[in-house]
Amino acid sequence: MNNAEILKRLENKGYIAALLPVSFVGAAKVEVERLKAENELNKHQTAVVSRYSFEMPDSFAALSVLLLFAPTARVKLSFTQKGRTSFVDMGLGYDDYVFAPKAADAAVADVLGSGARFEAHNNFPMKILAALSGKCEYGRNNILYMKESLGTKPDFGCCFHIYAYYTELAADESAPAKIGRMERCDSCGRCEKACPTGAIMAKTAIINTERCITRYNEYGSRPLPEFITDGAQNALYGCNRCQLACPRNARLSAPQRVVDFSESETAALLGSADFSALPYTLRLKLSELDMADYLEPIRRNLPALLRQSK
Ligand code: SF4
Ligand code: SF4
Repeated sequence: MNNAEILKRLENKGYIAALLPVSFVGAAKVEVERLKAENELNKHQTAVVSRYSFEMPDSFAALSVLLLFAPTARVKLSFTQKGRTSFVDMGLGYDDYVFAPKAADAAVADVLGSGARFEAHNNFPMKILAALSGKCEYGRNNILYMKESLGTKPDFGCCFHIYAYYTELAADESAPAKIGRMERCDSCGRCEKACPTGAIMAKTAIINTERCITRYNEYGSRPLPEFITDGAQNALYGCNRCQLACPRNARLSAPQRVVDFSESETAALLGSADFSALPYTLRLKLSELDMADYLEPIRRNLPALLRQSK
C-alpha cells in the first residue's frame, strides 16, 4: 500500500490525514523557539511551551510523522433542578476526550497493518505542526482551523482533535507551509466582539491567556477570578463564545448530541460525594461522556450556569 492509499483509508474512517517528513519536527521546534524569542509569553504560555517534546522514538528510526485530524461534536447537557430544566454546553473539544485518542490509535494500527512500527507522540506543539503541514491556518482567536480551501465536508472548522504518530513510512521531502491566519479574519472580528473577557486582541497573533476563561475553568476547584462573572461562563468547561461566533463553525449552530441528567443526577453532581460513591448509572453516564475526571470543575462551574438560565 502506498502513502496515498494509507491516507485515503484513514479518510474513509472519518479523519483527515497528512504524512510529514520527520524534518518537520525540527521545523516545529524552530517555530517554538521563535515564539519564545519574539513574543512576551506570559507564565501560563511559558508553562505550556515547556511541556513540548521533540524526542524521537527509541525503538525504531522514524522517517515521518502521521497527523490525524478527528472532528469533534457540540454536546449539550440538560440538568434539572426543582422541576426546571436548563441546557448547558459541555464545552467544544471535550467530547470523546478519552475515547477518541484510543479510536485514532486503533485506526492507525488497522490501516498500517500488523508489523508496522509506529508511536503516538502527544507532546508535540500540535497546532504548529498542523499549521506547518499546510492543512490548517489560525483564526484571530488563535485557534487552529482546517484550511477552507481544502473543502472538507463537513467543514471541521476549528473543532477537531489532532493526533500525531512517528512512523517508518518514507514521506516526500517538502518545505513546511508558511504559518498564517485566515484571510477572512481581516474583515471579520466576530470572535473578538464575542469574547466576554477581552482575551482576543486584534493586534497580536496570540491571545492573552491570562484573560481566557478556558485557562481557569477547565481544571480544579479553586474559585474563578472575579472577571469571570456568571454571565461570562458559557460552558461546563472551556469556553465556546469565540468558536460559536465564527462563521467557519456553522455546523455547530445546533448541538450534535444532547444528554439529559435527571433531577436526582443533577443533585448528586452538585453534591460532595466522590466519583466512586455516585450512583452506578450516573458513573456510567459520566464515563461515557468522558466527564469522570471533571467532577471538581463541574461542581464549581455548573452553579453559575444554572443561575444564568433562571
Ligand atoms: S475561549 Fe472564551 S475567553 Fe477565551 S478567547 Fe475565546 S471567547 Fe475569549
Ligand atoms: S470569527 Fe471571524 S475573525 Fe474570528 S476566527 Fe472566525 S473568521 Fe476569523
